[in-house]
Amino acid sequence: MLLPQKKHDDLKARSSKKSPVKLSNFQMDLKSNTVLMDNKVRIDATEVSFAPKEIPQTNNIASLSGVHFQQLITIKAKVTKISGTKKVTTANGEKCKAECFLSDPPGTITLTLWEDKINEVSEGKTYTFHNVRVIKEYKSDKLALGTTMHDCTVSEAEDFIESLPQSVELPDSFTTTEAKVEVIGLLTFGKYLSCLQCHKKVADGSFTAKIIKCGNCNLTQKRDKCIKNCFAQVKVSQDDNQFTVTFFQEQIKKVFNILQRPQTLDEEKITEALLDASILKIKYDNKSKIINEVSPYII
Ligand SMILES: [Zn+2]
Repeated sequence: MLLPQKKHDDLKARSSKKSPVKLSNFQMDLKSNTVLMDNKVRIDATEVSFAPKEIPQTNNIASLSGVHFQQLITIKAKVTKISGTKKVTTANGEKCKAECFLSDPPGTITLTLWEDKINEVSEGKTYTFHNVRVIKEYKSDKLALGTTMHDCTVSEAEDFIESLPQSVELPDSFTTTEAKVEVIGLLTFGKYLSCLQCHKKVADGSFTAKIIKCGNCNLTQKRDKCIKNCFAQVKVSQDDNQFTVTFFQEQIKKVFNILQRPQTLDEEKITEALLDASILKIKYDNKSKIINEVSPYII
């Protein structure tokens, strides 16, 4: 229903009083069996001889395929996963956005959470979402849901007794977060050697002066031939929010590339480079906080 507020309020008032109405001048979408109303619709009082019948307020995920695109719905579902929050530029300015996976006994769907709605839900809990909009996913055209800036409310609900379908492979946006961060300082810097064959870190205990044996693949190799690596735990800030991320060699190399400095494993030079980098665009794993992408922040 895409109704102007006045008609919407009118219908709502009549619905709560259970007064019958006669609708005219609407369209019918036969595919989804949905009545489409816009500002041309006429709402007139009428007399009927049947008793009012309660229509169940809640949909289920599987039934959404019959709901018209852009319609506002109420749905009860469990939040099985929430992505990291990111800032996006919208027609109404910069807004915080997160995505979550919803499940109910017959299905799964993604829900885009905006602004303060992000903090109103937590993973593993079941909620009734009122006034969420049925949308289509940007790339796949799959049905999805989105919270609206106004009118949308979230209330905790009882868990489902039935078992829920497992959400399939999670999209990248659920496991990683992209952020523009400012480097505040270094917490730890470390060096280690990794195996020539399997590239796994070689434990310190396996070192002799010249020869080391990989505990993972058993390759005995010369110490000075092993791959030298380093990592740094770095405190960064995004707006007022401070957190710690880990840079491994690959990503430290990218910082040197951005600054156009020669690659090195020298602790002092790496510290200097990370502090000089100031603002970076990073992508990190939500759980481990390990960075897997670094790019310059271009205004
Ligand atoms: Zn190995």
